[in-house]
Formats: sequence, structure tokens, C-alpha cells
Amino acid sequence: MVMASEDEVSLLVIVVDVNPIWWGQQANREPQFTLSKCLDAVMVMGNSHLVMTRTNKLAIIASHCQESHFLYPCKLWKSGDGHGDDNASTSGDGKYELLSVANDLIAEEIKNLMSRTEVKGNQTDTLLAGSLAKALCYIHRVAKELEAGQEMKSRILVVKAAEDCALQYMNFMNVIFAAQKQSILIDACVLDSDSGLLQQACDITGGLYLKIPQKIALAQYLLWVFLPDSDQRSQLVLPPPVHVDYRAACFCHRNLIEIGYVCSVCLSIFCNFSPICTTCETAFKIPLPQVVKSKKKKLKPST
Ligand SMILES: [Zn+2]
Ligand SMILES: [Zn+2]
Repeated sequence: MVMASEDEVSLLVIVVDVNPIWWGQQANREPQFTLSKCLDAVMVMGNSHLVMTRTNKLAIIASHCQESHFLYPCKLWKSGDGHGDDNASTSGDGKYELLSVANDLIAEEIKNLMSRTEVKGNQTDTLLAGSLAKALCYIHRVAKELEAGQEMKSRILVVKAAEDCALQYMNFMNVIFAAQKQSILIDACVLDSDSGLLQQACDITGGLYLKIPQKIALAQYLLWVFLPDSDQRSQLVLPPPVHVDYRAACFCHRNLIEIGYVCSVCLSIFCNFSPICTTCETAFKIPLPQVVKSKKKKLKPST
């Protein structure tokens, strides 16, 4: 394998779906795989990425149904060079200090986030599109802060739990195309039901989509499949690409449709015909042959 040059920075942003409703139900279904087990696996992945090369960078964003929250680096993270609290940085067991501090902070942040959760009836979808947008902004910021001559490769890994939300279709597609434009890979590790939106995201940006057969083995899938970067992947035998569900959500009801009406001006998609596009307010001239015919028929008997 070709070692990355010291000047190249590799930034990995992990977006973890921490939807409290899904994880609550999951704890009942499979008590051996809970949110804390999932985060353990994510930390193993994050730590592995950080120790691969000195210049590797990491960010972890928790995608909740109320907010998208940075678990790492976070506000508790003081100078950003790995020396936080005195007691945290002196890990007596010889563990790499950066990792032990980072892991403690991530655990602390997620505990705070989950304890301030207030689930209201209508707010149950994970704000995944928003979290991805936040990830893109973070990548952009890090890219701007690079030293002269440094190059950066970045990718986003989504660990997805809850169902897709068709309401976020538009925002999601915009995020995907923005990522594609910046050549940022989006990978998806799906724990439960398949996600059409993430299938499209991975397909468009050249990332990997995998619905894992066993949740309990999450850490192994993360390390085997998602830790290698795009250069190393070409030399590995990875799970074959999935069939991508390319259905679009209609702009009127956010239903996934295979055949629909498309506004010829703004390309909005509708499941029913409407004479005026609700997005750009173009009025369509409706062909009227049937109306004309019926009038002629009516006229004929009278003549
Ligand atoms: Zn519709
Ligand atoms: Zn239109």
C-alpha cells in the first residue's frame, strides 16, 4: 500500500444517528446492541483513523431529532492539541493521550445531549440532512485553515439507524450535490432498514453503502469496510455495490414516486398534474382537444 504523504491531511467526519426513539425501541428489541455499544464501535473507528497517520483528522457529529451536535471536537475540547483537563490527559495506563481525552469527551457530550432530549409528538425524524450540511461546513472550515502546500482529502461516514424522512428529500439532495462538487465521499453504514437517500448519496459521491447483516458486529464492519480510504479500497475486495433506489419524492406530498409530472421550467416533481407549478408558479397551457371536440359534437345536431 502507498503511504499517504505527511503533507496530506485526511479528514474523516462521522455522522452518527442518535435518534432517541429508534434507539429506545432498539434497546427493547436487542438489549445487547444499544446506543452506547454503537458509540463504542464509532470510537474504535475514530481512534483507528487518528492513529493511522499523524496528519489524520477526525470529527464526530451526533444527528438527533432536535439538533446536530458536535461530539468531537467539542466546546469542552480546550486548546485542540490534545491537552485538555489535567486529570484526563494523564492516563496512567499508557494509552495515547489524544485518544483517551477524545473518548472521554465524546462520552461526556453524548450523555449531555441525551439528557436534554425532550421528544415532542411530531419531532421524531433524525435531522440527517442538517447534520450532513454541518459536516460539509466543518470540512470547508478545516480546508481553509490548512497550511500552505497542504492538501486535504475528506470523507463523511454516516452510521444510520432510523428510517428515512422523505420531508428532507430536497435538503438531502442539495447536500449530496454539494458534496459531489467538493469531491467529498459519503459512505453509509446502515444498521436497520435500507435508506434510498443514502444509497443515492453514496452512488453519486463514489462512497460505499452497506447495510450490515449483524448490528452487534458494527465495529468489525467499520474497520474492515469503512476505515480504508478511497485509494486503498481499490486494492480490497469489498461488498458488491447495491441496487440504488433512485425514486424521487414528489414536492407536493413527499411520497416516493417512480413516474410523475416534472415542471418543465424548474424541474419540480409532482405526483398529480396541476395547471400551475407550486414551486415556480409557471402556468401551463393545457391542451384542449377534448373540450373542442365535445363542443363540435354538441353543435352538429343543431345544424
Ligand atoms: Zn405528491
Ligand atoms: Zn416549476
